[in-house]
Amino acid sequence: AITITGMNKWYGQFHVLRDIDLTVQRGERIVICGPSGSGKSTLIRCINALEEHQQGSIVVDGVPLSSDLKNIDKIRSEVGMCFQHFNLFPHLTILENCTLAPIWVRKTPKKEAEETAMYFLEKVKIPDQANKYPGQLSGGQQQRVAIARSLCMKPRIMLFDEPTSALDPEMIKEVLDTMIQLAEEGMTMLCVTHEMGFARQVANRVIFMDAGQIVEQNAPEPFFTNPQNDRTKLFLSQIL
Ligand code: ATP
Ligand code: MG
Repeated sequence: AITITGMNKWYGQFHVLRDIDLTVQRGERIVICGPSGSGKSTLIRCINALEEHQQGSIVVDGVPLSSDLKNIDKIRSEVGMCFQHFNLFPHLTILENCTLAPIWVRKTPKKEAEETAMYFLEKVKIPDQANKYPGQLSGGQQQRVAIARSLCMKPRIMLFDEPTSALDPEMIKEVLDTMIQLAEEGMTMLCVTHEMGFARQVANRVIFMDAGQIVEQNAPEPFFTNPQNDRTKLFLSQIL
């Protein structure tokens, strides 16, 4: 579980996250939406300490996230993350991309790491691409590799930050299907996305952020059909 309490963050003078309280239970699938610049990416990045927060606390599976580097490593090894741009290593093959962290961070024997990598590459339906380089794959395939690479670390929680927004329309579905499958298998997921079909189908809770605050949250059905806050209404009227 993730427990965020009274969290505030500034970029210099700019108050980017305001009084964030958020609890994510094991197995929850949460979609975060909101206008550009509302702080969605910053929130996600705070959870695995890619950004530091100045006030409040973040606790991941009982481990408090402080400036203590030992805890940061522990949290990062349990929290997988998938970005808009896939950030694969271009000079490594797909298989090597997937085995790098397990071998060097987890000290997994190479053969075992490769077996695990092939298991997850099969799961995302591209085992046949294992020996190619990222540049030889389509965007959708690269994003599925990025998801498989995260899964190879056996994370307990997956964070997604607009994983489909850099993809051509015909490739969005294959990545969403991978995420749906992950959700059905019980993965705890926190997804920033504007794919509202995905939110309706997969999320158990949708969170709307604006100007650094969580403005409204609800189950998808009431969230979409009966939003309470004027800012949520305005946002939904623009994207639906
Ligand atoms: P988008 O939908 O466009 O991805 P977002 O909701 O993810 O937006 P963030 O990227 O979290 O928004 O940014 C929130 C605010 O913080 C924005 O006003 C942005 O300009 C600002 N910001 C983001 N990163 C930094 C940084 N490293 N330094 C200073 N300001 C930043
Ligand atoms: Mg963002």
